[in-house]
Amino acid sequence: MDKRYFSDKVVEWYEQNKRDLPWRTTRDPYRIWLSEVILQQTRVIQGLPYYLRFVEKFPTVKDLAGAAEQDVLRLWQGLGYYTRARNLHKCAREVVARYNGIFPDNFEELKKLPGIGDYTAAAIASFAYQEKVAVVDGNVFRVLARIFGVEKEINSPEGKKYFTQLANELISAKNPDLHNQAVMEFGALFCTPANPSCNTCGFSKTCFASLKELQAELPVKAKAKAARPRYFYYFVFQKGKSLLMKKRDDKDIWQGLYDFYLVEKTKAVNPLKIMREDASLKNFVEDAHITSKKYKHVLSHQIIHATFILIDTDEPSAKHLKFYTTRQIAALPKPVLISRFLEDQSLAVQS
Ligand code: SF4
Repeated sequence: MDKRYFSDKVVEWYEQNKRDLPWRTTRDPYRIWLSEVILQQTRVIQGLPYYLRFVEKFPTVKDLAGAAEQDVLRLWQGLGYYTRARNLHKCAREVVARYNGIFPDNFEELKKLPGIGDYTAAAIASFAYQEKVAVVDGNVFRVLARIFGVEKEINSPEGKKYFTQLANELISAKNPDLHNQAVMEFGALFCTPANPSCNTCGFSKTCFASLKELQAELPVKAKAKAARPRYFYYFVFQKGKSLLMKKRDDKDIWQGLYDFYLVEKTKAVNPLKIMREDASLKNFVEDAHITSKKYKHVLSHQIIHATFILIDTDEPSAKHLKFYTTRQIAALPKPVLISRFLEDQSLAVQS
C-alpha cells in the first residue's frame, strides 16, 4: 500500500470520528505529557477524571514539581503502576531544575527525562512540537500488523524495531501530530482487538488481515509468563478508630504508599501459625480476629492473595509504624487493596 495513501486515509477517518478529549485541543507539552503518562496502561474513560484532577490541582509543571510526593501519590491512587507517579513527579522537578520549566522540544532530548521512553517522547515531540516521529503503542502495533500483514512478535526486540521503523516510514511530514493521533484512535475505536469494523472499513480491500481473515491472529504476541502468586498476611492493629500503618519503602510494588504490618508467604498458611512464630506478633494471638473475606488483587505480573487479621491493642506506635485516625488515613496514599479492605470494614472516610 502506498504510504501517503495510508496516512491520508487514516487522517481522513480521524477527522470524522475522533473523540473530543481535552488533551487534543492543546499544544502545551506539560498537559500532553500528563495525559500520556496517565493513559499508559489505562483506558481513556478511567484516565480522564485523573487528568482533570491533576490539571486542576497542578496547572503547570512548576506546580507539580513543588508538590509533596505524598500528594502526587494520593491523587494518583487507583491508577496503579505507582512507579509512573513517582517518575511523573521526578520528571516535573527535572524539567523545572534543568529546563527552567519548559519541556525540551525534541524526541532525543525528551527521552533523557525520568519516566519518558520512546512512546511518550514521540507523543510530546509530535503533538506539541510537530516533530516527524511516530508513536508506537498497542493500537499502532495492531493496525500496522493487520493492514501490512506483519507477523513479527510485537513484544520481541526485533518486532518492536521493525514496527517502529515501519511506523516512521508511514508518518506524514505535513501533519505528524494528526497522523499519530489518527492511527492510535483508529486502533482504539475501529480496528479493535475483538470484532474490528472490517465491513465498513476504508482499508478492507487492501488490508492483509481482512483479505486473509487473520484479524484474530494479528498482531502476534509471545506468551507472557504466568503471574507470580504472593500471599500477604496483613496484621491490622486497631486502637479505637485508629490503625497502625506503615509506609512501604522496600524496592517492591507500591513503594511510597501506606499499608499495615505485613508478613508475606509463598503459599497459603494459617495466620495464627505466623503469629506464633513472629516475635512482634506472638503476644497478640488471643486478641486476633481473622476477617472472613479473602482478597485477590491482580497486578500485571503477580496475583496478591491477601488475608487481614484485626488486632485490638493499647500498645503505642512502634518504629516505622504509627497510628493514624481514619481521617488521616483517608489523606494517605494507599494501594487499592487497602482501600477496599477499609471500605469493607467501614473504616474509610472521604478525604
Ligand atoms: S479491514 Fe479490519 S482489520 Fe483491516 S484495518 Fe480495517 S478494521 Fe482493521
